[in-house]
Amino acid sequence: MKRTFLCLSLLSALALPVVAKEDKPPVEVVSTEVAPGIHMLSGVNGFIGGNIGLLTGDDATIMIDDSMPPFLDKLRQSVAAVAGKHVDFLINTHVHGDHTGNNTAYGEDKTHIVAHENLRHHMVTKGVQGPEGMVPAPEAALPVLTFSDQMTFHFNGQPATVFHVPKAHTDGDAVIHFSEANVIHTGDTFFNGLFPFIDLDSGGSVDGYIHAQLKIISMSNDETKIIPGHGPLASKADLQKAVDMLIESKKLIQKAIDDGQDLDSILKANPLQKYHDDWNWGFISTDRMTTQLFNDLSHSNAHQAGDGHQH
Ligand SMILES: [Zn+2]
Repeated sequence: MKRTFLCLSLLSALALPVVAKEDKPPVEVVSTEVAPGIHMLSGVNGFIGGNIGLLTGDDATIMIDDSMPPFLDKLRQSVAAVAGKHVDFLINTHVHGDHTGNNTAYGEDKTHIVAHENLRHHMVTKGVQGPEGMVPAPEAALPVLTFSDQMTFHFNGQPATVFHVPKAHTDGDAVIHFSEANVIHTGDTFFNGLFPFIDLDSGGSVDGYIHAQLKIISMSNDETKIIPGHGPLASKADLQKAVDMLIESKKLIQKAIDDGQDLDSILKANPLQKYHDDWNWGFISTDRMTTQLFNDLSHSNAHQAGDGHQH
């Protein structure tokens, strides 16, 4: 239920105000070639879901994430313009509806869906996002190929290693590394220039999120093109900035907790004030960033102290 609420609030925070106004230009999917045969597809004039990756070439077409149902036609047009053919494989970076929303359509189109095993488990046990909440997952929406640690595609001379980062944005995250092309698609383990959403209810964690970002940085150099889950195409320096902010934010909230403050007084004191202008956005406001850090950190503290009273 929580996830439903989050997805709806994401939609209303970002998509509806833009789509509803008739005088605004329509939302479009645009593609940027980040390396030979590798594109990033994203929305302009509004929110279409997470950034999409696309590998094209003679052997196979591989897509990373698939936006949301209202944008299926635009996505298909954009993919057809870039790839010119059928999508053979679709990798889901994680379970959220703004990254897996068109799984059914692609699955029915005989695209093989690939994901971490926990993502499939979430879909089978909790269903998928429907127009009015969670509904049982149609067979076609489910990944037909799952992995636990990592797997590598060998097509078009562009090896693509899909690897798992544990308990980061969710418990089923996949990051895709095109090692020859020096391109990394991070899924939602990176929101470029935006406070990140760390989905504690789906098995994400602050420490796992930090570890994932540090791991991606360790695989990058100054030329690496990083496709974030949300936000513009990024560099290693952009990701470094994001992880520095997250590590420092964690420290600030941890200190407030150690000082015995409760969530209300921390929100009032606003220790993340200095990050507000650069990182606050519609879905993860500074208050919400503070709250998710508090919820995770006070929970792990309670565990360490063997004290279950705090939740
Ligand atoms: Zn997400």
